[in-house]
Amino acid sequence: MLTRRKMMTTTAATISATTVLPFAASGQVSENRFATDGGNIQVYPVNHASFWMGTPNGVIYVDPVDGADAWEGAPSPDLILITHEHGDHFDLETLNGIIAEETVLVTNPAVYDMLPEDLKARATAMANGDEGEALGVPIRAIPAYNLTEERLNYHPKGRDNGYVLTIDGFTVYIAGDTEDIPEMRALSGIDLAFVPMNLPYTMDVNAAASAVAEFNPTYVYPYHYGDSDIDAFAAEVASASDTQVLMPGWYEG
Ligand SMILES: [Zn+2]
Repeated sequence: MLTRRKMMTTTAATISATTVLPFAASGQVSENRFATDGGNIQVYPVNHASFWMGTPNGVIYVDPVDGADAWEGAPSPDLILITHEHGDHFDLETLNGIIAEETVLVTNPAVYDMLPEDLKARATAMANGDEGEALGVPIRAIPAYNLTEERLNYHPKGRDNGYVLTIDGFTVYIAGDTEDIPEMRALSGIDLAFVPMNLPYTMDVNAAASAVAEFNPTYVYPYHYGDSDIDAFAAEVASASDTQVLMPGWYEG
């Protein structure tokens, strides 16, 4: 499994050059790299809600959009996770441009239904609550939905996914587009979380910070935040928990 690692140092240098981590000085995390039992996980933000991770089990892309060019220089994906059908998360043209021979896809059922047959053949649909495995990584599909009356049409309950991956004992929660739902607040044992905040589509920074303080991951990336005040988010999290907020900059590509 370890031989599947194919990090490209040139890419690492390019992408993390602009990375500024407020807590890098703590020595616990630097350059978006996290230690697992079997090696490192390295996170590369691409844009907004799109990123990839190099892991001991392979290369994982999350919600790849923006065209194949945006992913140039990244190693080809072993696994692609898609949370839901909106254009900032799912784009067929990008998928067709980046997918490799061996790539497997995990999507929510609605996106699965939108895939052409050739992509369906290598895809697995996971509904809210489903558990599965890809690249030897256990995956849980977590609900992702709006709670606020006037936002319910954006992400209706039951359709979209977040994912919890356990990579070598290191647990990663990718929230998708959601508000501070009870299923998020009830999570425990999360090492690294990606939590969205932007209005009107997801939630404000207060709701996001409140939820993060409750499920208390070791590290959190605010992502999918648009022009939200992520400094306010970071301050609120810092005042209410010992979660470390990581802000590498998601819109600098
Ligand atoms: Zn979105």
